[in-house]
Formats: sequence, C-alpha cells, structure tokens
Amino acid sequence: MDRIARFSFFVAIQMLDLNVCKSGRCKNLGVPNAKEYEYNIRPLGFLAMRCGVCSATPPMLDNESYGLMRNHWQQQVALLSGKRCPDCGSHSIKRFGQSSNGKQRLQCKACQKTFSMRTPVMKGQQQLVEQIKNALFCGEEGESLIRLAAEKGVHFDRACEQLKRQAQESMWRGEPSKFMASTVFTLPYKGKGNQLWGIITTDIESGRVLHISTSLVPMVLPESGQYQPCADAPPLVVEISDSAIDLAQKQEQRFLLRQQFDRCDFGVASLGSNKHSHALPVLTAHAHFAVLNMLNHGDDGGAHLLSHEVFLRGACITQFSNQVKNQQMSLAYVVGETDGNIRLSNVRKLGWWQNHWQEFRDSSGASKAFSVLCGNMDLAPEAISLITAKQAVSFIEQNMSKLNLAQFTASRVDSFAAVLAARYNHELPVVEPNGLRMESDAQHIGVCL
Ligand SMILES: [Zn+2]
Ligand SMILES: [Zn+2]
Repeated sequence: MDRIARFSFFVAIQMLDLNVCKSGRCKNLGVPNAKEYEYNIRPLGFLAMRCGVCSATPPMLDNESYGLMRNHWQQQVALLSGKRCPDCGSHSIKRFGQSSNGKQRLQCKACQKTFSMRTPVMKGQQQLVEQIKNALFCGEEGESLIRLAAEKGVHFDRACEQLKRQAQESMWRGEPSKFMASTVFTLPYKGKGNQLWGIITTDIESGRVLHISTSLVPMVLPESGQYQPCADAPPLVVEISDSAIDLAQKQEQRFLLRQQFDRCDFGVASLGSNKHSHALPVLTAHAHFAVLNMLNHGDDGGAHLLSHEVFLRGACITQFSNQVKNQQMSLAYVVGETDGNIRLSNVRKLGWWQNHWQEFRDSSGASKAFSVLCGNMDLAPEAISLITAKQAVSFIEQNMSKLNLAQFTASRVDSFAAVLAARYNHELPVVEPNGLRMESDAQHIGVCL
C-alpha cells in the first residue's frame, strides 16, 4: 500500500465522531463536522442529524460512550496484538528492545511513546486458568466449573478475564481478511430473562472468527450510551411458506415499527456489578467494526456480509467509510441459506430505502436473499453467505448449553463466549494454499487427554 493510501486509512481509523453521514453515495459519508450537517433535530420523533447533501437523517449517537468503549478496545488490541499504539491508535509501530522482565517493547513512530506487549495470563493465575480451561472443555456438564467458581470466588473472575485475553490474543493474531461475514446473537446469563447481545465476524474463506464482542463493557457508561429495555417491534411471524425474500420484507417492516430504527430490545439484562454496563447494540456494533479496522481487516477492501439488522449497515459503512468511498469495499445484507447449486428466483425492492434484493433457490427449494448495499460486489452469488458466522455462533451456543453456562454472571459468560470462539478456530480444518482441507494440527486450547 502506498503512503497516501496508508495515510487516508489512518484518518479512517480515527473515527471518533459517529454523527456523520452514513449514505453510501454521499460525499459526506464518514466525514465529521461537514458544513451541511444539522444536529439534534427530531424529524421522526427521536433525536437525529441531517446531512444537507443527501437529506439522510440518521439518529444521533453518544460519542462520549463510544469514545470510552473505543479506548478500551484500542488498549486491548495494542497490548495483546502490538498492531496499534495504545495511546494514539497509530499502526506505525517499531520494535524497541525488551523490558527488564523480557517482554517485547514497542515504540509508536507517530507519538514516540513506548509500550510492552502484555502477557495474557499472569504468572500467579496460570494454574487456575488451566483448571478452568480443562473444566470448560473436559468437564462433565460443567460441574467442575461450578465447583471451581464457588471455591475461587473473585479469583475465578480474574482468571476468566485472563482466559478471555488469551482467546482474544489468539483470534487477533491472523492475517488481515478481505471477505467477512458478521451476524448477531444473544446469550443468556444468570438471572431471569437476562441476555447479552453480541456480534461476531468470520473470514468467509477460512471460516475463522476474527472478533467477537458483546454489549457488556467493563466500565460505567453515560446513561445515553447504556442499553435500556425498550419497546421493540413485534417479533417476526414466520410462515412455513415464507421464502428468504419474504422474511427480508417482514424484517424491513419491523424496522419501521420500531420507535427508533437503531434500537432493538434484548430483554431485561440486569447487572449485579456496578463495574460493568450494557452498551447500546448500535454502539457495540460501531466498536466491533472499529476493532476489525484496528486489526487491519478490510484494509485492502473486499466485501462485508451482514445479517439483516438495520444498524449493522450504518456501523459497518461508518467504520469502513474510506474503503467504501474508494469503491474498494462492498456491503450486503444476507437472509437465508442455500447449497452451492442455485438459480435466481425473485427480485424485489424492499423497505424505507427501497434496496434491491435478489433471491436464489437451490434444488431442494431452500432460498437465500441478499441486497448489495454499496460498492461492486466481488463475490459470486454462491459465495454470498453468512454460514461461517452462523456456524461459529452455533458452536458457542451448543457448548454454552451443554456446559450449562447460563447460570454464570454476565462477565463470566462474556469471557466464555470469547474462549469458545477461539476454541472454534482451533478446531477448524486448516485450508492449504492448494485449497485442500487438512485436519487441524494446531495446538488446541485446553486439549482433553
Ligand atoms: Zn449525506
Ligand atoms: Zn502513538
């Protein structure tokens, strides 16, 4: 990549102001403080902004909360991957000897600050971390995990945090991805009706999980950035005869019935600890795509496939606005799944934005619909699929349920989700350069002997 492109990318990752235009073809896409903006207006009842160039009125977002979340992730990415400066976020980093305890030191070429890479698991916690891993992957119905948690109390929580860091370090280690799929999920935790809301992104070629985040953040956010249960649109009523494009149409109608496009409800989500909060899903999504950006995924463009949730488009296009503007990245919504042998069966314009949707069917009658939201899609219809992301979510859900993990607190469930995602990566078959799939010989996380 040449210097100019690097520089423009650097500007893109400094996305600190979310109140920008999010229209794919507008010159103000991703531009902060454009002169054509009007802030804090209420054209549809909720607080929004208007871009005078394209007339779009996206909801106002809480930059203060987002800034806190983004800083938290920037620190994690910097200290665990060494790919960013923890202070200024620059990717221009050089090696700078070793610290007195033998850790790699790095220096940021932009702000000159030096920092050491972090060891995910501290010396005093290694034994407990190993015990938890063994209980997670080899325990009978998770009973040993429950016993350990009861015995170790607060130390168990600290060990879970470190396990999560270890999982993140391994997920964030790989090569930058060009073609990504993201889907959303919820996971139950201790207490009636409590759920975490989350988002996961996979590389569609290798299937590996690149990043997973949930609404839980280890800080107290300002109230305007915190999730509150809200009146969502009534749930989808699915008929057996509904094809993928029918489901997409019903979902678009749901978005219009919401009090605010970017507010979804995921239950009570109460927290016992005052050290954590649930961020709004829309802010969680922005921070999630910002992390992918920090890890250089999509630097060289490509495609990002999204599950059909209205605010994922806004978050993804904002965080990758530079690549979208340069026509290097396309975004698409995907609904349904088919096998490889498909034919076009339907086209329709759907929703508030009248997006163009295409539906394909395979020989079994299964259908898949997608809508390319911006850019030139480099993928064939057969490859436009969320299957890699859905498989990772289903692995996590199955293990959560098998090990009865919903009885644990929100922060423990959040850690277990990351650990299971990393475990999923280690169980994936390795794809050789010639396209052959080999059985994984990677070192397993928590091998059961
Ligand atoms: Zn605009
Ligand atoms: Zn720096």
